[in-house]
Amino acid sequence: MIRLPSLCRNSIVFPPFKRLFSSSCDKDNIAAKYPIVNHQYDCVVVGAGGAGLRATYGLVKHGFNTACLTKLFPTRSHTVAAQGGINAALSHAEDDCWLFHHYDTVKGSDWLGDQNAIHFMTKDAPRAVLELENIGVPFSRFEDGKIYQRAFGGQSLKFGEGGIAHRTNAAADGTGHYMLHALYGQAVKYNCKFFIEYFVLDLLMKEDKPVGVIAWNLEDGTIHRFFANNVVIATGGYERTYFSCTAAHTSTGDGTAMVTRAGLPLQDVEFMQFHPTGVYGAGVLITEGARGEGGYILNNKGERFMEKYAPKAKDLASRDVVSRSETIEIMEGRGCGPDGEYVHLQLSHLPKEVIIKKLPGIRQSAADFAGVDILKEPIPIIPTLHYCMGGIPTNYKGQVITQVAPGKDQVVPGLYACGEAACVSVHGANRLGANSLLETVVFGKAVADTIANTSVPGEPVEMDECLGMVTLENFDKLRHQDGRQSVGQLRLKLQKTMQKHAAVFRIQDLLAEGCTIVSDLYCEMGEVKVTDRGLIWNSDLLEALELQNLLVNSVQSIYAMEQRKESRGAHARDDFKKTFDEHWRKHTLSWMDVETGEVCFTFRSVIDCTLDEDECPSVPPKIRTY
Ligand SMILES: Cc1cc2nc3c(=O)[nH]c(=O)nc-3n(C[C@H](O)[C@H](O)[C@H](O)COP(=O)(O)OP(=O)(O)OC[C@H]3O[C@@H](n4cnc5c(N)ncnc54)[C@H](O)[C@@H]3O)c2cc1C
Repeated sequence: MIRLPSLCRNSIVFPPFKRLFSSSCDKDNIAAKYPIVNHQYDCVVVGAGGAGLRATYGLVKHGFNTACLTKLFPTRSHTVAAQGGINAALSHAEDDCWLFHHYDTVKGSDWLGDQNAIHFMTKDAPRAVLELENIGVPFSRFEDGKIYQRAFGGQSLKFGEGGIAHRTNAAADGTGHYMLHALYGQAVKYNCKFFIEYFVLDLLMKEDKPVGVIAWNLEDGTIHRFFANNVVIATGGYERTYFSCTAAHTSTGDGTAMVTRAGLPLQDVEFMQFHPTGVYGAGVLITEGARGEGGYILNNKGERFMEKYAPKAKDLASRDVVSRSETIEIMEGRGCGPDGEYVHLQLSHLPKEVIIKKLPGIRQSAADFAGVDILKEPIPIIPTLHYCMGGIPTNYKGQVITQVAPGKDQVVPGLYACGEAACVSVHGANRLGANSLLETVVFGKAVADTIANTSVPGEPVEMDECLGMVTLENFDKLRHQDGRQSVGQLRLKLQKTMQKHAAVFRIQDLLAEGCTIVSDLYCEMGEVKVTDRGLIWNSDLLEALELQNLLVNSVQSIYAMEQRKESRGAHARDDFKKTFDEHWRKHTLSWMDVETGEVCFTFRSVIDCTLDEDECPSVPPKIRTY
């Protein structure tokens, strides 16, 4: 049976599907099986990547008693892997201006980004980067001692008319690594309270209001409820829905899945970014900074084919454009290697000292994962899944928004999201490189500031002994499940399906078939076998829970791709090649019935007005060329 998504019925009460939570104490037997430790905080932050850490120490600075829960040691969060840099128009390399950054980001988003949020972020960027410098990020330097800035894709001067901008502030090719360690240093300085290797299972919802989270302490197997007046989700992306991706194995979209189970929508999940330079066969990223330093891409004829697809920006066109061009070259038989399956990233023409000083990590990655010495040989690369533009819908203050009727937005009181888990939306249909690290610190801080403006430390925190039982029932069921396939087997089927059916180019038949397969795989979760029944560091159960989350994300993502019948940004449909503004320039909101796997959609208008039209005039839509 082919399953297709539907529009949510028009007149219904929202949310369209019932929440998975009930505040019923009938489930006492489960509580007896899993004694629960209760905690009370002003604020709980889930995640300790760039976004979670910036939010956490911001809250502590504002005087809030805050708990930061993380399944990884903070400095192992995926932010640590970010290489290329962080955008801000500091004007160190040339005469730049944040208004040009605003323009480029709106254009990069293919006019699906909300311009008030883009205004907020690009204006705040120079402050955010200087703050990072002040807390100890060892940025590379120009000769005059100022922070080094490199070129990155889609960045221009003078509203696209002044050539390529050097706006990406970089610490060699390890910016995320240095940033995360500096942010963690601040969190330690402010004495933040961390709960490390706590796996958050779900939000605790009291009717419509989040009142905390429930978590499993991986180290000793205990279950904990953290009650709080403000809950912040900063859990990163869900790239691991794909077989070949640049993100950590832990990028499993836990936060986006929790929000779905809480009966709230996700936004724009059809927009998944492929990075043009993933190492062929390994998925490991080669930063866009490599092209920013002068690298270029070649086909099997040795041609710089980007000159044909993006005559002005060439290899530094935005990521969706370069990924599509590579795919076309490969599909039309101009790929490199014995089977023509990849293209080449050429760096050996660069001066040796540029490679050694500016790209040392890339040289190492190319040697380790592709077996090449970039001083002499090109790197085999293919487009690789890299970033999730969609996520939990928020406004530019970091407050989560839902709908109470089709098209009618409402803030969810006490719930916030920031970083990659959120969809603010500053990236719209396609993120510009180096805008994501920026998003983590700008909106991490915004969340802390918004909470400080809307509540005060020390307000009473309500506890409810009945919450979290449905989550524990699921936990217990999975723990004892004795099905016919391993977690790894089902995960692989899911990842291969997404890779094949939701690729760089998408087409109706493949998408429709993909929806059906992913829905069937969603049902197969009930047939998974968990072999370890323990509670202490049970990685089998942990991966089963993560797989459940991956499935919740994938189902919504592929159905959303199927329903969007146009091409925009990273969503390239072979059968609907044009961008269709009249009908489709709107955000998709997906809702899911987690019991049946059914998905339906409503929409939100794109916010075209900036925060102050005099200061930052909005950029009207036009055809996007580079
Ligand atoms: C290889 C690579 C290179 C990149 N390079 C750049 C770049 O140069 N510039 C740029 O701007 N962007 C870059 N990006 C993107 C950018 O790094 C990420 O989007 C950003 O760092 C995400 O930060 P985050 O804080 O939202 O999430 P993450 O850093 O992914 O952190 C997620 C946090 O959530 C926690 N968590 C998740 N689930 C749970 C759970 N169930 N319970 C408890 N805790 C949980 C984790 O422990 C972790 O602490 C890159 C991404 C990759 C993969």
